[in-house]
Amino acid sequence: MVLLPGVVQGFKNRNLMRKMIVAGNWKMNLSFQQANSLVHDILRADIPMQTNHLAIFAAPFPYLQNVQSLVSSHSQFFTAAQNCHTGKSGAFTGEVSAFMLQSIGVEYVILGHSERREYFGETSAILVQKLRQALESGLRPIFCCGETRLIRDAGTQNEYVTKQLEETVFLFSPEQAARMVIAYEPIWAIGTGLTASAGQAQDMHAFIRNLIRKRFNASLGEELSIIYGGSCKPGNARELFGCPDVDGGLIGGSSLVADDFLQILQSF
Ligand code: PEP
Repeated sequence: MVLLPGVVQGFKNRNLMRKMIVAGNWKMNLSFQQANSLVHDILRADIPMQTNHLAIFAAPFPYLQNVQSLVSSHSQFFTAAQNCHTGKSGAFTGEVSAFMLQSIGVEYVILGHSERREYFGETSAILVQKLRQALESGLRPIFCCGETRLIRDAGTQNEYVTKQLEETVFLFSPEQAARMVIAYEPIWAIGTGLTASAGQAQDMHAFIRNLIRKRFNASLGEELSIIYGGSCKPGNARELFGCPDVDGGLIGGSSLVADDFLQILQSF
């Protein structure tokens, strides 16, 4: 077999330190039974994955423990919560803390998703508290950033994303930031069927990586995974993941169908 540069046994192999991640964000979808079948179908497919590739199921809170036990014997599959509270414990009826999530074996938590910012008023100040809780509890945050259509049309997306990161991720130490994954999610592409072009995604990911190099250090810039979210699906994942600074995807709609999620997982 002839090995192409950058390709090992059919996989893209850019930087083995950097994790290539496909995370399915189920949002508030699926019954317990549907979620159970979805995970079973994906795991049963037993697709080959390179050692630095991983898959994450961001399940609703009531399903997390079940999903956690299903993935526990699959070393490259993990669970994520879609949110956590700003505090560790206390009189906060209806809330779930990072500490509780960690205690059932959850590894990741999505923070800063645009739906949480827009519908639940999550500001940068709140997100800093959530990031702190997540890190103190040993969770790895998947931190979302991204601009609206208006900002993209005005051409000020780089400034906007810089501010989002300066107010949150960049307040932490390099060691803390090293435990994070950044998800660039242009809001105009989330759930709309519109996708950032590979060029738009690559430009923003390279821009964010450069900010990380400058704010923290060059090796963290190399190692931090920056994933893309916004109508990523089987038909466009390969092109997006082919960009040198796109390290996978945060997948909404297409994570609810086993075949679609599996195809995306095989798009590196
Ligand atoms: C998301 O909500 O994080 C997302 C990327 O959704 P979709 O893939 O449906 O656009």
